[in-house]
Amino acid sequence: MDILSQDIMYLAGVGPNRKKLLSSELGIETFGDLLEYYPYKYVDRSKIYKVSELTGEMPFVQVVGHILSFETFDMGPRKERVVAHFSDGTGIMDLVWFNGGKYAKEHYRIGQDYLVFGRPSVFNNRIQVQHPELEAIDHSSLNFEHSAAQTSADANNGQWSMVNGQYKMRPYYNTTEKMKKYSLTSRGMERLVRNLLEKLKEPLPETIPDFITSRLHLMNRDKALRTIHYPQDAKELERARVRLKFEELFYVQLNILRYASDQRRKYRGYVFNRIGEVFNTFYYDHLPFNLTGAQKRVMHEIRRDMASGRQMNRLLQGDVGSGKTLVALMAMLIAIDNGFQACMMAPTEILAEQHLTTIAEFLKGMDVRVELLTGIVKGKKRQEILDGLLDGSVQILVGTHAIIEDTVQFRQLGMVVIDEQHRFGVAQRAKLWSKSRPSSQPLPTGRGVYTSANDTSNVKGNYSPPSEGGGGGGSIPHVLVMTATPIPRTLAMTLYGDLDVSVIDELPPGRKPIHTTHVFESRMASLYDGIRRQINQGRQVYIVYPLIEESEKMDLKNLEQGFEMLRQVFPEFKMSKVHGRMKPSDKEEEMQRFVRGETQILVATTVIEVGVNVPNASVMVIIDAQRFGLSQLHQLRGRVGRGADQSFCILVTNYKLSEVTRKRIDIMCETNDGFRIAEADLKLRGPGDLEGTQQSGMAFDLKIADIARDGQLVQMARDEAQRIVDEDPTCTSTKYEILWSRLKQLHKTPVNWSAIS
Ligand code: ADP
Ligand code: MG
Repeated sequence: MDILSQDIMYLAGVGPNRKKLLSSELGIETFGDLLEYYPYKYVDRSKIYKVSELTGEMPFVQVVGHILSFETFDMGPRKERVVAHFSDGTGIMDLVWFNGGKYAKEHYRIGQDYLVFGRPSVFNNRIQVQHPELEAIDHSSLNFEHSAAQTSADANNGQWSMVNGQYKMRPYYNTTEKMKKYSLTSRGMERLVRNLLEKLKEPLPETIPDFITSRLHLMNRDKALRTIHYPQDAKELERARVRLKFEELFYVQLNILRYASDQRRKYRGYVFNRIGEVFNTFYYDHLPFNLTGAQKRVMHEIRRDMASGRQMNRLLQGDVGSGKTLVALMAMLIAIDNGFQACMMAPTEILAEQHLTTIAEFLKGMDVRVELLTGIVKGKKRQEILDGLLDGSVQILVGTHAIIEDTVQFRQLGMVVIDEQHRFGVAQRAKLWSKSRPSSQPLPTGRGVYTSANDTSNVKGNYSPPSEGGGGGGSIPHVLVMTATPIPRTLAMTLYGDLDVSVIDELPPGRKPIHTTHVFESRMASLYDGIRRQINQGRQVYIVYPLIEESEKMDLKNLEQGFEMLRQVFPEFKMSKVHGRMKPSDKEEEMQRFVRGETQILVATTVIEVGVNVPNASVMVIIDAQRFGLSQLHQLRGRVGRGADQSFCILVTNYKLSEVTRKRIDIMCETNDGFRIAEADLKLRGPGDLEGTQQSGMAFDLKIADIARDGQLVQMARDEAQRIVDEDPTCTSTKYEILWSRLKQLHKTPVNWSAIS
């Protein structure tokens, strides 16, 4: 048996209690799991830095010095920030606690020498270390420069240099409170890993073909796994990390592309090669404007897919207002021209209704039957629609999830449009495919390994080998997925890796880019003149306050106070006020007053983010902009700039801006490009935090790679995987044996590899 699949129980230092803990707390069951439990940081024990040497760009470092004094700052009810001013004689830095400050104040003594570990950053031009680790030291043992082994009270310390020659960088492992009770601290984990590495005498087998490792100059697997725990130096560590990240990303991509290739061979797509009367009538007689270049390009891509005999699986990305809905509509008209029905699904009833209105408006005067089906369409009306779908008289169905219910059957569904990807995974898309031929066609879901994004269904990672030979199976509807939340390429490649991507990167003509500026709250007065001028020119203004659940009450108070203050500033204007605590009917009425132009200023919390369309509004003021995420700011800004007039967005903040906030604000002022903003957002926050991804469970079980920061590696992994699948589309070639068996192995383990929900 492969030594790495041995039960962790058989490792020296692990008894029944620890085995249970390792399993329940960290999911570690085998030697291999422990080996892949990577340190979260390393401390370079070969060096003690001076405060004067520190910069905001360093990794974890250690500094020796003493605390001069403590300072406490109030941060709202029952919250405080504790700062210890810390000096080593070369300079002063701040140790900062947002939590546990009380403990720090009581526990650490002024004047005592401490060894401080942490990652330095810069805040208000001062070096600080947030949530540092402090270790009291007495000078008799302080001799780091010569031998690391003397530095700690750890009894076993002397031994661990034996693993990998002399050690320089000490690994730190995350553990839990529960584990600490059983001495499974970072040190404890380190000891286990050391025991394991000593036991692994034979080199660990390679999992990536030689031609790839040598072409990309990757460290071999054995060396990488040993180095990741005990690197000799930062450079070697980096190489080990690159190798392990690549491996992770490569297998994710290989899995996705294998799945896509498999699908492609199994199912055909309907061939829609007719551009007929419906499309042409719409295009030549009804379309009130010319398509943008980007829309034309995307239409070409869609038409090529539809005529190819392969099922179209396309992601259509484009900023709000870029004209995606129109493109989707034209794709549906092509389906109709070819004798098929089409449907469009939206995530909410409101959005479905909006789509219906838009489509009905576009098709006014044409002989196309469009219906709406949501959860609230009941009784006779519902039955009429269901009948119409079965006999084919309903040509376009717009709706919500209600469409995928079993009772909804089409006569010939040929084209599916899904608005806002988040909530529809591969399995749900697949469910739509069975809509026109009840029970005659197997659902393609169960056999796939790849579960995309937030697939809420149960398509778990059961690996079954790719089917032999090509072809077979019936034809299935074409799918177009639209998303207004721009998804950066590397993320799209991973989340929606089985989709081809089209991008509308051009707005319809006549829209002026929104002018965005940053204003400190103390300078608000200068802003009022601008607002007054705009309103006197007939425009309307949004003023948005943040509302974040945690501090909801305080936020509401801020909004009320802001409203009163603005009323005094603008006695001549009428104002509306809208927030989440209002009765829906009151809220609706206030909104409507603004929409009708009866009020000039709408003071609101983020409830306006979705759905308001007031082309006459030209100013968006965002108060406490530092509290909003980038994509939220971008969505809010998208509320203006809908008319022909120059629009403005003003981001108001206080003076205290962290580096990250500063960057967010700068990006907003620099660009209106949703894609650049999404890229930046991903970099600043990581994919788990990306708006919309968290709620929908779009998280990854990647141990070391980071889709946000490792974009280049994602691309490399994708390219290599693509090359292999292109050469061996059935994924059976013995040449790549090592890959297919590894993939199989990965999916046998309980680790949910590509996505977890
Ligand atoms: P999206 O779905 O990408 O948010 P829509 O399709 O709703 O964008 O289009 C936004 C607005 O722009 C709509 O009012 C639509 O009629 C209009 N529009 C779309 N394409 C064009 C175009 N090529 N020229 C002018 N206006 C357009
Ligand atoms: Mg839209």
